[in-house]
Amino acid sequence: MSIRDQMFKELKEKKIFDQARSYAYDYADQVSEMDVFPSDQNIENLKAFDEPLNQAPADAIQVIDMLNKWGGPATTAQTGGRYFGFVNGGAIPVSIATKWLSDFWDQNGGLYLTSPINSKLEDICERWLKDIFSLPEQTVAGFVSGTSMANLSALSAARYRLLKNQGWDVNVQGLNGAPKLRIIAHRQVHSSVKKTLVLLGYGSGNIEWLDSDEQGRAITSSIPPLDNSCLLLLQAGNVNTGGYDPFQEICPKANEAGAWVHIDGAFGLWAGACKSLQHLTKGIELAQSWAVDGHKTLNTPYDSGIVMCADEEALLTSLQATAAYINYTDHREPLLYGPEMSKRSRAIELWSVMKYLGKSGIDEMVTGLHKHALHLSSELDKNGFTVINDVVFNQVLFKCETPEKTKAVLAYVQKSGICWCGGSTWDDVPVIRISICSWVTISEDILKTVAVFKEAIDAV
Ligand SMILES: *Cc1c(COP(=O)(O)O)cnc(C)c1O
Repeated sequence: MSIRDQMFKELKEKKIFDQARSYAYDYADQVSEMDVFPSDQNIENLKAFDEPLNQAPADAIQVIDMLNKWGGPATTAQTGGRYFGFVNGGAIPVSIATKWLSDFWDQNGGLYLTSPINSKLEDICERWLKDIFSLPEQTVAGFVSGTSMANLSALSAARYRLLKNQGWDVNVQGLNGAPKLRIIAHRQVHSSVKKTLVLLGYGSGNIEWLDSDEQGRAITSSIPPLDNSCLLLLQAGNVNTGGYDPFQEICPKANEAGAWVHIDGAFGLWAGACKSLQHLTKGIELAQSWAVDGHKTLNTPYDSGIVMCADEEALLTSLQATAAYINYTDHREPLLYGPEMSKRSRAIELWSVMKYLGKSGIDEMVTGLHKHALHLSSELDKNGFTVINDVVFNQVLFKCETPEKTKAVLAYVQKSGICWCGGSTWDDVPVIRISICSWVTISEDILKTVAVFKEAIDAV
């Protein structure tokens, strides 16, 4: 049989889909019990993939079997309740179901003509997000792969506008000989923002660094006099402490000077969607651009990030794309709002999660992450660990009496398979950081986590 006939047969019979579905259900049923980080043996077994590309087609069932047998056990248990590394969200059931359905649609989300449904749902998500975060009416949103790309999109809009203000069209004239822009950020700015500045032609050596306080928040009094050549980078949710910059104090000053304020709110912006946490994001509406993830706090599947910008012209001009064969319509053309051309129709899952949760569901889920973080921090405190940060959101940063002990405890816990979290440094001291970011986490997970930390401290 030709490979094409084979594929038609598979599509008609649907056996491989049933097979994949049954493996997926098994995975979902045992993910809470599996090692949160794969065992050495399971990592070793990945050698099964070290083979030359086969000459002849393989059997589709065998392809799926191979992934299930060797791939599944070498996953991190991100959809269980005790993966606390980085800031990685879980995936809400309806979002996975939506992804499955829309996988069959396989929409290229770049244009209205390639996917009217994606174009429509981007419009809806834009409207809902603006409402959730109380952003200015003229704000537009682009749907990108994550906050890194959202930062890149927003900062290219900022670059365009700030240079245009000086009579320089960066799209035409480029950066050679361009007026100088002043980039102002505090030392705690996320690495992806630094990367973005480098990509955009502003070396990391050109940043005017601001001091930040013990919670990693910008100190208002350390902000230099601003003018309309300034790009000010703030954050809602420090990646270590979860700390929020004082937007209400800083943004009015920046606006008065004509500076551009960008807020990286990858996970933290969602505090703005919760009644009891909204005080953290007060003043964000005074910025010019924002970046936020769906795949962290909102628990959409990867990949899903959003750039929001109050200056539509700057965003669309800086991300412009024209070619004779690209036919624009009167509808939203998603590729104009981000760096990609062909792209995943990620707004479909984002829409389904927001529709499913509604405002009260988002509030309940996000507030729940905060409550678990508080619970964990008080348990750690009771058990001899030093919690370093004010647990204002979902991040818990802590250490043992000595740096050596902290490192040894972290290594023990990472190896345990019970939970997984990463290390960092704070004030040049090694620390352990836990990010509660999955809807799946329940109190029992917190208690199991505390138990393994206690065990670790006794063992090292
Ligand atoms: C995760 C994160 C980023 C990068 O976002 P991606 O979605 O991984 O591209 C940027 N800033 C902060 C504060 C983050 O937590």
